[in-house]
Amino acid sequence: MSQVKTDKSVKSVAATKLVYPMVKEYYAEANKVAQDHSKKICYVTGAGLVDLCWVYDNVLPVFPENFNAACAAKQMTPPLLEVAEGAGYARELCGYFRNHTGYLLEGKDRKDVAYPGGGLPIPDFLIADSGSCYFHLKWWRETERIFGYKIPCYLIDVPYIPPRMTLDVLEQHYLDYTVKQIKGALEFIGKATGQELNKDKLREVVRLSGEASELFEEMQDLRKAVPSPMGSEDALSCLMPLVQWAGTQQAVDFARSLRDEVKDRVEKGIGVLPGEEKLRILFDNIPPWFTLGLFNYLHKFDAVSVIESYTYFFHYSRGKMDPDKPYESLARKYLYGCWFMTSVRETVNSLIARKAIDYKVDGIISYALYGCKIATGFLPYQAKIMQEKYNIPTLLLEGDMVDPRDYADGPVKNRVDAFMEMLLERKKQKS
Ligand code: SF4
Repeated sequence: MSQVKTDKSVKSVAATKLVYPMVKEYYAEANKVAQDHSKKICYVTGAGLVDLCWVYDNVLPVFPENFNAACAAKQMTPPLLEVAEGAGYARELCGYFRNHTGYLLEGKDRKDVAYPGGGLPIPDFLIADSGSCYFHLKWWRETERIFGYKIPCYLIDVPYIPPRMTLDVLEQHYLDYTVKQIKGALEFIGKATGQELNKDKLREVVRLSGEASELFEEMQDLRKAVPSPMGSEDALSCLMPLVQWAGTQQAVDFARSLRDEVKDRVEKGIGVLPGEEKLRILFDNIPPWFTLGLFNYLHKFDAVSVIESYTYFFHYSRGKMDPDKPYESLARKYLYGCWFMTSVRETVNSLIARKAIDYKVDGIISYALYGCKIATGFLPYQAKIMQEKYNIPTLLLEGDMVDPRDYADGPVKNRVDAFMEMLLERKKQKS
């Protein structure tokens, strides 16, 4: 089995250094409850849904996408990817799916591998949504098949928002449809766990989900400061607490401590770099989790990746998570995931451009994922628009988020070098 070494990241912010220990602890807890049957384990997809699980006291949701990212960060994905490919799954499929499937088929039974927190436990039920990615539905169906259709599975259909609507102006029947899906999912979890729906708990989950997102949004706004108080090597690690624990006090506490620390750094003028910050970068798309050190590599050019599109995708509040309208709030949140990934590109392009302007970025690095069509197909078009309409250059890199085997570290860095030199020269000429 092949093994590929890449660069680990070096973090600057104390709160983000705590994330990996929290991840390990969470999986250890999940393995414990799976063994003593004190709680039911549910596999959930990203960008939503997890809130629904936290409404029930006896459910512990786990998030395979995060587990895959943790495996990649610990350089343990190649053997799992090879198992999945050996079983006939194409190498061009989503890397998250391949890694998870390789883990389920063989990886989980290997006693010689120290997976984070002891690995991903076997689920009691599965729940997925099409909101952020229609591939989730196929993935969860395959997981169901691997377990011999013995584990109940519920799929939520979140409709795509057509161009005539915006997130703020949604036609009522779109909301009604999504609310119906959410109610169906809650009923399914209730049946799978033997618990009644507690409406007060539902309201509390919505309140906490909104509060954590608002704190995270506040922190993101603070990152507009020059020098940048926190780079992407730190920020991307924060997604796990925010996504996994959306709807819990734990997520709120983490988001608050992160916000406070970033605020303190801004007030004291503490930047990521020890010296002058010459370039500011926006990183677009899911990152290569196996080499987050790529963000540290930018420091060589006195450059910092100051903001990401990906971290904007997971925190929805917009002041609209209203505990008194819990179903509608959750529906809006899931529709947001769908909107960001699939809606009219002009709208998303202008959102990316807005970020680039607000965060004073000099250039964009977009990461095209060969296994993720949904988040990649439009990137060349987006790069063209950024250049022609907003005069912001884009470097388009190719790879996968968890599969390091096709990642050519040397050539990638050569291209980064050339891009950084061009940006520095451009900036010199402008000034
Ligand atoms: S959005 Fe892309 S990376 Fe995420 S699950 Fe879907 S195909 Fe995979």
